[in-house]
Amino acid sequence: MTRPRAIIVGAGLGGCVLAQALLESHDVTIIERGAASSGAQFPIIDVGQPAITDPHIGSGLGGSTQLWHNGLIEIEDEIFSTHWPIQKAELHRHYEQAFLLLSHVPVERVRAAIITLRRKYQELGLPSAMLPGLFYPRWPMNVWEEFGLEPRVNLVRGNVAGFRVSQAGSILGLTVNAEGQSQDVPGDLFILSAGGLGSPILLQKLSSDLPLPALHHAGRHYEDHPMGFVGEVEVKVPLYRLWNYFVKGTGGNLRMPLVVTQGGMHVSFQLRPAATYYRDSRRQRVGSVLNELRQNPWNPVNYAKLFAHWDDVLDILSFKFGIRLPTKHYTLLMTAQMPASDEMSVWSELDQANGREVAIRHWQLTDEYQRDLSAAICEVLERLGPVITRSRVFPDWITAIHTGAHHSGTARLSASADSGVCNADCRVHGVSNLFVCDGSLIPASGIANTGLTIGALALRLAGHLRQLANSQSRECVE
Ligand SMILES: Cc1cc2nc3c(=O)[nH]c(=O)nc-3n(C[C@H](O)[C@H](O)[C@H](O)COP(=O)(O)OP(=O)(O)OC[C@H]3O[C@@H](n4cnc5c(N)ncnc54)[C@H](O)[C@@H]3O)c2cc1C
Repeated sequence: MTRPRAIIVGAGLGGCVLAQALLESHDVTIIERGAASSGAQFPIIDVGQPAITDPHIGSGLGGSTQLWHNGLIEIEDEIFSTHWPIQKAELHRHYEQAFLLLSHVPVERVRAAIITLRRKYQELGLPSAMLPGLFYPRWPMNVWEEFGLEPRVNLVRGNVAGFRVSQAGSILGLTVNAEGQSQDVPGDLFILSAGGLGSPILLQKLSSDLPLPALHHAGRHYEDHPMGFVGEVEVKVPLYRLWNYFVKGTGGNLRMPLVVTQGGMHVSFQLRPAATYYRDSRRQRVGSVLNELRQNPWNPVNYAKLFAHWDDVLDILSFKFGIRLPTKHYTLLMTAQMPASDEMSVWSELDQANGREVAIRHWQLTDEYQRDLSAAICEVLERLGPVITRSRVFPDWITAIHTGAHHSGTARLSASADSGVCNADCRVHGVSNLFVCDGSLIPASGIANTGLTIGALALRLAGHLRQLANSQSRECVE
């Protein structure tokens, strides 16, 4: 009995998790275009809000997991029930499997730590806002290397540029370009895992052969997380013990952002030691006091100056040696949900200068949304009131907002072709053998980084494809 040929476009997070889960049942081919992690040969041009972070997607074996921090967090139930065509309960099992796969830590251990840490936060007098847990395993992983896919899948190096479509409207093969040559890669089922900025562009190309209503949504409904340091506070409680909570027996750390709601959007704030933000200026300040001391060790004024900067000294030492000395100054790192834009936000164009294709990203943060973010900052400071002695909002915080690199929504899951690209099984509405498996599936993520959910969706899709393969092979036998 021959195994079905699964052709996956993109060796990033979604593609690799799916590939390793399909190896037993399918003959798996991965097509990857990137040669190096920065992907400089396939540029992205921002015509809206600039990304600031560069690069903000990875290219090559491992995709963006070559760059990521591996922070794992689930999307909240409320976001599922408001925006997704499936309930979160459908992903529970896959969330647990994905957590283990991406961290080597059973999720129960981290869930127990979340409950403990929440209690500790409340004992400190921190506000009883929504407090989700964001877990950082000890080491970030490149999924391609971690799963040892190199000899186990067929790897094709090249850029997928088009589709070969049957008269009945199913996919027969993909056109792959590499080093001036073109080849056709045939298969039985095709999965786009080219990322939230890559898959919609491929689907737009497909729409010239297959003008399906669902493909009208490719590149729309784009979401990312605006992130940035927006202010600073001085706390009067020993937060230094908790902000980066070590979870025993895991080697990893737990962070617990405070979440407030404004304009129907969730906005989260992590309190981070100020030294991580003011690294250079503080080091310089302390450096110059130390210099004066060295030059004039008998002058008591210099000792007084050093003590005036004592918190800075502790902050720098904590940062440098990864220890927790009692410090009081924290910066607020905001990560916000954004309303998905129905306008076209991701597409490709030919660069007239060199004939190369470039991806265009139109990331829009409307004035009204920016006002909501300002209100959210005020609200979190108000809630923190009982535990802080001073606070300051950075006047230019909006100009320092950068991308969370959580590109999603551009081939979103939807109940019907009227509202998105894929059905609840991640299959493109109207095409029998074309699936999507990456960030572009996610219809909304709240404030959650998307990696864990991409992993969970990939494992769920793998289960579905295995079932399909089993039922087809049973039919053949009968
Ligand atoms: C600096 C940084 C830090 C991050 N930290 C976190 C974090 O802490 N937690 C978290 O959850 N997420 C984090 N992320 C985001 C996370 O890495 C991504 O959400 C995730 O990797 C996206 O997975 P994906 O499968 O959608 O696409 P990707 O991992 O981006 O993979 C897509 C792959 O497809 C390939 N491709 C695209 N088009 C084509 C084509 N036409 N032909 C062939 N190949 C193609 C690309 O080269 C790429 O290798 C971070 C991202 C960055 C940049």
